[in-house]
Amino acid sequence: MEQSISAAEIAQFRAETPGTTNLVHFNNAGASLPALPVLNTVIDYLQKEAITGGYEIEALYQQEIDRTYSLVAQLIGARPEEIALVENASTAWCIAFHSIGFQPGDEVLTSEYEYVTNLIGYYYGEKRYGIKLKVIPNDANGNFSISNLEEAITPKTRLIAVTQVASATGGVLPVEEIGTVAAKHNILYLVDACQSVGHMPVDVKKINCHFLSVTGRKYLRAPRGTGFLYIRKSVQERLNPLLIDGHAITSITDDGYTLRKDGKAFELYEKNRALTLGLGKAVEYALAIGMERIWQRISYLAAHLRTKLTKLDGATVHDTGTQLSGIVTFTVDGYNSYQVRDFLAERHINVTVSKAQTTLIYMNKHQLKEVTRASLHYYNTEEEITRLIEVLKELA
Ligand SMILES: *Cc1c(COP(=O)(O)O)cnc(C)c1O
Repeated sequence: MEQSISAAEIAQFRAETPGTTNLVHFNNAGASLPALPVLNTVIDYLQKEAITGGYEIEALYQQEIDRTYSLVAQLIGARPEEIALVENASTAWCIAFHSIGFQPGDEVLTSEYEYVTNLIGYYYGEKRYGIKLKVIPNDANGNFSISNLEEAITPKTRLIAVTQVASATGGVLPVEEIGTVAAKHNILYLVDACQSVGHMPVDVKKINCHFLSVTGRKYLRAPRGTGFLYIRKSVQERLNPLLIDGHAITSITDDGYTLRKDGKAFELYEKNRALTLGLGKAVEYALAIGMERIWQRISYLAAHLRTKLTKLDGATVHDTGTQLSGIVTFTVDGYNSYQVRDFLAERHINVTVSKAQTTLIYMNKHQLKEVTRASLHYYNTEEEITRLIEVLKELA
């Protein structure tokens, strides 16, 4: 595959990423290394806030803070009034899920790759609302099956909810095809795009989803403690926001209140404004490079790593499915994943251990207790991959 970003650009992005100096960071699906403009935006605002006053500095920065909604919207092909800013993807997902207003007997369809927060949500929903969860079995190649989805739909299907890229395996779900099915049957559609935004182009119009939940710290390279939820404008008024504060309403009287008519009806007022600005800066940084180029570069590096791991004696790559991402999962014979991670960490290479519970249905089906996960970003290099393979050779 052709390299989409030049060597000179990579050198520049690395120069702007202090963490790359002494580390090989392959834990971008856990938390990416932030770029300097993001770091400086946060620090600068916090310093000004400390000497100006929280509300006073906010007033001075109002335009920039509002611009974060526009930038996030631009990144995913939405409108600013369809965005709620929250602290993480789990909050975003729960706000979406619990705003739906389920009735007993409503059916929810999901995939084998579903993330733990969401799975807990369905179990909780079974107890709390009386919904019924159905998991769509993958096809024999580990791909999400559109025909199995079609077969599972009944008049009671209320929601289709999937994770676009799982936490513990590298496959990518066909979210656009799933969206076509959801639209055909007029079913609500919620996409967990926590691992995909910042990683590959994601467009809510193409996906045709009603909700999209995202975190900042992973592939977006935004500060920890940031995230957002997209809620399609046309469904906002049919939903019951989970948490409502004085910022979510336009008026209140002795008799009741009137909700805002935008995404802010779904978020709470208080948040860390420095981090909001940092999120905006991270989105700006990604947009300036271009999501298509970022995705091509990550795909190239991940394919390169998988090829090398496949050739390495004693190593097994576990990613399933035809369309793969920058998340590469593997095991090494004779060592558990914690030993592999620690051996690499001692040599300044960051990878992580993905436990079964993060992607339980898939992991149980493949009888995996845990896997080692190397998640690559565009600022990683072939030299870093070579280094990882050398160290694994030492181990194996
Ligand atoms: C990390 C992750 C989440 C949760 O994100 P938080 O920001 O930690 O709440 C949700 N879905 C997937 C697929 C994830 O990998």
